[in-house]
Amino acid sequence: MKAAICYELNKPLVIEDVILDPPGKGEVKICMAATAICHSDIHAIKGEHGDIKLPAIAGHEICGYVEEIGESVDYVVPGDKVIASIIPEGCGHCYYCREGLSNQCTTHPLFLHGQGRMTNKTGQRLTQYAGPVAGFAEYAIIPERNLVKVPTELPSDRACLIACGVIAGFGAVLYRAKVTVNSSVTVIGCGGVGLNAIQGALFSGAYPIVAVDVSEKKLETAKEFGATHTVNPRIEKDPIETVHEITYGRGSDFVIVAVAGIEILRQGFLMSARDGTTCVIGHGHGEQLSAFTPTDFMGGRKLTGSAMGAIRLRKDILRLIELYYSGRLKLGELVSGHYPFEKINEAFESSEKGEVIRNVITFE
Ligand SMILES: [Zn+2]
Ligand SMILES: [Zn+2]
Repeated sequence: MKAAICYELNKPLVIEDVILDPPGKGEVKICMAATAICHSDIHAIKGEHGDIKLPAIAGHEICGYVEEIGESVDYVVPGDKVIASIIPEGCGHCYYCREGLSNQCTTHPLFLHGQGRMTNKTGQRLTQYAGPVAGFAEYAIIPERNLVKVPTELPSDRACLIACGVIAGFGAVLYRAKVTVNSSVTVIGCGGVGLNAIQGALFSGAYPIVAVDVSEKKLETAKEFGATHTVNPRIEKDPIETVHEITYGRGSDFVIVAVAGIEILRQGFLMSARDGTTCVIGHGHGEQLSAFTPTDFMGGRKLTGSAMGAIRLRKDILRLIELYYSGRLKLGELVSGHYPFEKINEAFESSEKGEVIRNVITFE
């Protein structure tokens, strides 16, 4: 089997034969169908998500089929179609699971930079950027708790997107920020995550829905996903003031920051209303919060993070699939291009140009 390996940061991935461990207790061998390129993958292989032991393998927006199951696996059987996500199903017993916050499960915590289950031809173990999952390979060993069974007829190139971009955006709006009907929402960054925040805001009955991005093309796409107003900080002299004007002088009740950068985060925060909530999704690595002053928090503004949209893996993803089949969740519209596995470096190059929503690597 082949995997696309990162041997050196900022260099093309190397596709080569690797040896995969057999599935252990609670683990499943997945035959990859489709893996999308998330911006986090780009950050990872450029070294912008912290140091990682190389060689390493990325890819965390995964759809595939169960090939083989390890001991005590009882959720899936060979042939099942699954989405694999970095966020695990909660244990059901810990404090947070009992609170209904399985995304904060302390028995199965979310983690990055995991021990890999692949060995290259010189005997080196491959580290996994996305903790328990590794999607840029023909097969992977993934813990059962990171899998969601999905309908076989759900197209793989759409299913894979749900594993990160969709839940990170749509989930942040519904389950973390808990956007209320008739409130205003501003989304900064209209890429694969931000567009999902916009469609989440539309679904939640928000108005106005303000999209902020430096790309006019992305702002046009944002309108198709439900944005009622657009703001381009490259054109607007004072984007904070513009958002306040659009939101009747009050500022936005909810601000979703779906792009990395501390100055952008501060701008987003200042776009929020009194008592408003700013939810941070986009993150790079090592930014300092020094651009904030205590007076920025006057008026009771709230600043919060969002762990993968605060979703409960198997409950909320199945609900999103229901919404997709009901025409209330756009998935196909998020796919910019398809690339066979051997063209993964072309797909990365294209994804970096910024006009792409999601490029999908296909294995079928
Ligand atoms: Zn991602
Ligand atoms: Zn738990």
